[in-house]
Amino acid sequence: MIVDYHTHTLLCKHAEGNAEDYILRALDLGFNEIGCSEHIPMPGGFDEKHRMSLGEYMSTYAPQISHLREQYKGRINVRRGIEADFFPGTEEWVRGFIAENDFDYVIGSVHFLGTWGFDDVVFIHQYDERDVDEVYEQYFRAVSRSAASGLFDIIGHCDLVKKFGHRPTKNLRDLAWEALKEIRKAGMCIEINTSGLRKPVREIYPSESLLEMIHELRIPLTLGSDAHAPGDVGKDFDRAVALVERFGGGKIAVFERRQRSMLPVSRPAFA
Ligand code: ZN
Ligand code: FE
Ligand code: FE
Ligand code: ZN
Repeated sequence: MIVDYHTHTLLCKHAEGNAEDYILRALDLGFNEIGCSEHIPMPGGFDEKHRMSLGEYMSTYAPQISHLREQYKGRINVRRGIEADFFPGTEEWVRGFIAENDFDYVIGSVHFLGTWGFDDVVFIHQYDERDVDEVYEQYFRAVSRSAASGLFDIIGHCDLVKKFGHRPTKNLRDLAWEALKEIRKAGMCIEINTSGLRKPVREIYPSESLLEMIHELRIPLTLGSDAHAPGDVGKDFDRAVALVERFGGGKIAVFERRQRSMLPVSRPAFA
């Protein structure tokens, strides 16, 4: 079984191609499943530059994915996902939105610390104005709270804070361990997200030191490219699958209607 559960579309205004372009790419690569996980619409104009509106979700995204799921049946499983933001204060809105829509899985991602979009290159200068150790501490605490919220199935890019290559000076192993224990307690899985290889850090999320802890805690893994262009689907999955073999017992989590199964991962045919 080989899947890519983290993909975007032009609806989020910072990606190219529509959902079908991503599905066709996954089909070309011989994948069994592709999950569309567009950024969740949010209330009150929250970060509206980087996501579709609720109206676009209802009129375009949701019907499109349902249609594509039927259209490609028997050739590739199309899963309806969403990449939800964990942002304190919006939990109840997000909970309602998830409950009202029949997702196969929900990725929970921390993209904000307070109001700071720390993974947005536009605000990268703020790393210089802050203590990087504190930024890491805040980040892992937010991940921990995102797990404790019970809203999500998959933790997205679980060490995103390293994206631009800023590194802590302190050993934050204990803090990371606490966050991972919370993830374990919540019964969630963690994605191996290859998009970090395309960012300044040039590293998969999560790092191998985190993966060692993940393995120790027996937290299940799944796979995502975080593609913002169809050509990025399944990118570097030879490396991601090798990590599943080393740190995930060779199995990946797959989802249907938010029910998780664990299946043996297969090597991508193209690698
Ligand atoms: Zn995005
Ligand atoms: Fe994200
Ligand atoms: Fe994403
Ligand atoms: Zn992402």
